[in-house]
Amino acid sequence: MKLIYNPVFLEHDTGMHPENKKRLTSLGDLPVTNLESGEQFLELVHSPDYIQKVKQVSEAGGGHIDAETVVSSGSYEAAIYAVGATIMASETGDFALTRPPGHHAYIDRSSGFCIFNNIAIATQYHVNQGKKVLIFDFDGHLGCGTMKFFYETDQVLYWSLHQYPAFPGGGSAEEIGAGKGEGYTINVPLPAGSGDEIYMDAIENFLPIAKKFNPDIVAVSAGFDSHQYDLLLDLRLSLNAFYKTGFILSENFDNIFATLEGGYNIEMFPKCLYNFLDGINQKKMKFEERGTDSMIQTYYEYEGRKALLEQNLRKFWK
Ligand SMILES: [Zn+2]
Repeated sequence: MKLIYNPVFLEHDTGMHPENKKRLTSLGDLPVTNLESGEQFLELVHSPDYIQKVKQVSEAGGGHIDAETVVSSGSYEAAIYAVGATIMASETGDFALTRPPGHHAYIDRSSGFCIFNNIAIATQYHVNQGKKVLIFDFDGHLGCGTMKFFYETDQVLYWSLHQYPAFPGGGSAEEIGAGKGEGYTINVPLPAGSGDEIYMDAIENFLPIAKKFNPDIVAVSAGFDSHQYDLLLDLRLSLNAFYKTGFILSENFDNIFATLEGGYNIEMFPKCLYNFLDGINQKKMKFEERGTDSMIQTYYEYEGRKALLEQNLRKFWK
């Protein structure tokens, strides 16, 4: 898995916003990949009215399109190439190092720094070709737009690990999908203060369901805001957890691709990202950090939530 990057992603100019271009420039000089626009794929997920709205606000010089999300004159261009890069990554098994992120974006509205839902669009592109897709969303927030879009299908298993409760709301152990999709949404609601041992348990414990689903493709929403020094959340992962997450994915699945979601601590972000890549490529871990654990109350809270989730999923995954 290698990085797919293009400086067009810097044209999404958000100023002093936490989701700003320093996230990518912090990685230094990166090889540039020639990309195709993903504009033709937007309607796989988004309504024509919403697409036009983003385009118009961008062409008019930009502004806020919701309480958290900023659009600049270059944002529409950056966003359609972010979709194109994610589609490309899904065909080459690579990591689309994109901005703006996508997993909060809904059919007809932006949310939480996200404009177009890159991972949902790439997933739907493969579902339309008859593929079963596992979306593994390890950003520290619930990918609310992604979850909602696939909530009633059994072609996509949406598996998210996130702090709960936290922005954007939702993502409890009770939300497991509906209709044909009942049992095909797995929300692992992590208490604030969760460290490495809870996080790795949350992966290992629900991995058998993901394997049983037997996906043709694994689509990873890769966010790094669950690191202990990220200011947007109160999860406590060390750098090692991102390496292990990548390693476990590569040991258990073929055909994996990823796209960037969150991760806002500019000093830690490159280390989180490179550790994840080294894990998934089964190389040696470069950035070691002392592992973290959780307070005993946090662990009990997690165990209770895990038991409830297991109980809710039991009848769908024997
Ligand atoms: Zn996030």
